[in-house]
Amino acid sequence: MDLFESNPEAKFRKKVQRFAKEHVAPVAEKVEEGWFPRDILRKLGEQQLLGVAFSKSDGGHGLGWSFEIIVAEEISAISAATEMARLASGALYAAPLANFASRPQKQRFLNPVLRGEKVGALALTEPGAGSDAASIKTHAERRGRDFVLNGEKRFITNGGVADFLFVFAVTEPRKAPKSGVSALVVPRESRGVQVVKTYSLLGMRGANVVHLRFRNVRVPDENVVGGLHRGFPILLDELDRERPAVAAGMLGIARSAFESAVDYSSRRQQFGRPIKEFEGVSFKLSDMLVRLEASRLLIVKAARLLDEGKPARLEGATAKLFATESAFEIAHQALQVHGGIGYTRDLPIERYFRDARFMMIGGGTSEIMRFLIQREIYRERSRRSS
Ligand SMILES: Cc1cc2nc3c(=O)[nH]c(=O)nc-3n(C[C@H](O)[C@H](O)[C@H](O)COP(=O)(O)OP(=O)(O)OC[C@H]3O[C@@H](n4cnc5c(N)ncnc54)[C@H](O)[C@@H]3O)c2cc1C
Repeated sequence: MDLFESNPEAKFRKKVQRFAKEHVAPVAEKVEEGWFPRDILRKLGEQQLLGVAFSKSDGGHGLGWSFEIIVAEEISAISAATEMARLASGALYAAPLANFASRPQKQRFLNPVLRGEKVGALALTEPGAGSDAASIKTHAERRGRDFVLNGEKRFITNGGVADFLFVFAVTEPRKAPKSGVSALVVPRESRGVQVVKTYSLLGMRGANVVHLRFRNVRVPDENVVGGLHRGFPILLDELDRERPAVAAGMLGIARSAFESAVDYSSRRQQFGRPIKEFEGVSFKLSDMLVRLEASRLLIVKAARLLDEGKPARLEGATAKLFATESAFEIAHQALQVHGGIGYTRDLPIERYFRDARFMMIGGGTSEIMRFLIQREIYRERSRRSS
């Protein structure tokens, strides 16, 4: 066993690497041009690479988050936009269902997604509610045995192609958010669900990120997950779980950028020698490696805690903050090492740079991660002093 990777994890990593090379690499450019990788999701499902974190009884593969971060890193190392589609469906959408849905709900809404036959999306963010997720306004009112859903969600990954949307909505305005928000599964084909806009993105270009509108959408009450008005704890749980995987995705991009910089600096000659012989270049590689290693350790720590059923809010936020900011810095410095050719579309390095920018925003911004971390610091202090 490697210090931080068990033998089964190392073997699993090889399997995912083979998958990524065989199935993801050939379509990476097509995804970049806007092709949604539904076919890759199906293949991931067939090879049991979706839902690896969830227990077998939940339709997953019983391997835990220590394996999920391997999938995230390896797919993202080849195509971060493909990983974004996978993560949105197989983790963001799937995790709350695996942890809170009833058996019939899992059979209907989770299992086909983990098999890669259907696609899921998680719809939380709204035009007026981003970092302040507790201020969502989308609401669902009871009418007989149904709920009627109205409101808007924006920046929803997979939102325009998903079969199912996991929507957070206010169901009891007087008690929102803590005891007045519910989580509902809404089939995207439901009457009244409208895709208002598909965003054109700086990076993650193949990702399908849309603005959705719900107008009098009828949702049967059997689609409420985890109990009426019980959505807010589900949301917090989901966010804690998604962060190590998001961080691992960024680690994948950073690793590819680093490897490209090592390679290029060894081959490229200036002033009669390979540019790696200039400390101005090679010391950048040293800094990149330190950041990669530190990111990996933080991510593994958060995933191991989740696998032990322990709280990982502080560790997940720490891993996400460090790994995402490091990935951007690494991609930036790696591009610099490539000089002019790094700025062109001849090499994927400019894509790594654009893709790496995203996760300082998505899944909670860097500022929100710092907010969460300082809150845990002071909570711990008051626990100790009481
Ligand atoms: C490509 C993409 C895909 C996405 N996918 C999804 C998805 O699938 N599902 C989903 O629900 N959402 C998704 N999001 C939304 C994403 O989670 C939000 O964009 C993010 O949480 C930030 O919200 P906001 O954009 O409204 O920014 P705002 O919250 O308006 O923040 C603007 C700025 O203010 C800062 N700020 C805000 N509050 C504070 C504070 N208290 N202290 C310090 N600084 C603060 C922020 O850090 C940021 O710098 C996606 C976003 C993008 C861009």
